[in-house]
Amino acid sequence: MQVRQHDEKGCAVRAGVDIGGTKTLAVVIDSDCRPVQQLRLPTGFGSEALLATAVEAVSRVATLAGISIEDFESIGIGIPGTVDNASGRVTHAVNLGIDDLDLGPRLHDRLGLVVHVENDVNAAAFGAFHMVGTREAGSMAYLNLGTGLAAGLVLNGELWRGSRGAAGEIGHIPVDPNGPVCPCGQRGCLETMASGSAVARQWPTAHPSPVQELFEAAQGGNALALDVKQRLVENVASAVRALVLTVDVDIVVIGGGISSLGEPLLGEVRAVLDSRAAMSPFLASLDLADRVRIVPAGFPAAAVGAALLGTAWIPACTGAAPQTTVSSASPAPNPTGT
Ligand SMILES: [Zn+2]
Repeated sequence: MQVRQHDEKGCAVRAGVDIGGTKTLAVVIDSDCRPVQQLRLPTGFGSEALLATAVEAVSRVATLAGISIEDFESIGIGIPGTVDNASGRVTHAVNLGIDDLDLGPRLHDRLGLVVHVENDVNAAAFGAFHMVGTREAGSMAYLNLGTGLAAGLVLNGELWRGSRGAAGEIGHIPVDPNGPVCPCGQRGCLETMASGSAVARQWPTAHPSPVQELFEAAQGGNALALDVKQRLVENVASAVRALVLTVDVDIVVIGGGISSLGEPLLGEVRAVLDSRAAMSPFLASLDLADRVRIVPAGFPAAAVGAALLGTAWIPACTGAAPQTTVSSASPAPNPTGT
């Protein structure tokens, strides 16, 4: 068995697991903090099934990397819901069938290593920050466009969770007093305008990637598709603007399932920001369009971020280019998922 726990730079081999509503993705990051192995499994529903999924994911990705679980320097988990990252407790992860689970301690018992647990959007923010590199950004907002809309903030190289963990919950800023009622109880939240669920409401389809189909239909001149797509892009641009106006981050990185649209989405968001800048010297002075990036397709931001958060930040490992030449046990990620 090949054991590569540390390399000559002192960097450690770490595991990160992104537990989503339908799939769980585990990665091993190497001495350069790049994902070198990854594996996908369907996520079990409910506490015991979810724990079993996490244990199996860590075990199997360790095998792929040619090491044992105990050779990991650390293990990090990203998961939806309310996460107390100090205790490893997860609550209100409704889509996973979790009401209250001591995820960190329970996995520690089964895996024999300390397991750091983080909210999945925060984990993805940290992974995206690593991907971009500190040479480009001292501060970054990660705009997650999945089923919902939320942001994670990395300020001066560290996650900013806020006083109650609500930092970056901009999806629930109301933007349309006449908009639909949001699951949060308010009306016309940004999330009801720019998210996978927003697209699903306005463009019902059985297509495996509704946003892909939406963009293609708009390209073909479909009037409804053009209308829905424009509303999506305008509100994504509004989310970028809100993030910069609130925390003035160096860059905003768009991620989540909708980001699988790639350059066409990025180009349209930049065009909206440019058109607004043309009408506002104030906005023009902020260079909003220049600050936006998009996560490269296939980069497992949440799993990488979870792995990086598993131990203290290692400055020597920042700034590495993303590299995902990995083996995978499953098909491509669901472009409509979170
Ligand atoms: Zn809301």
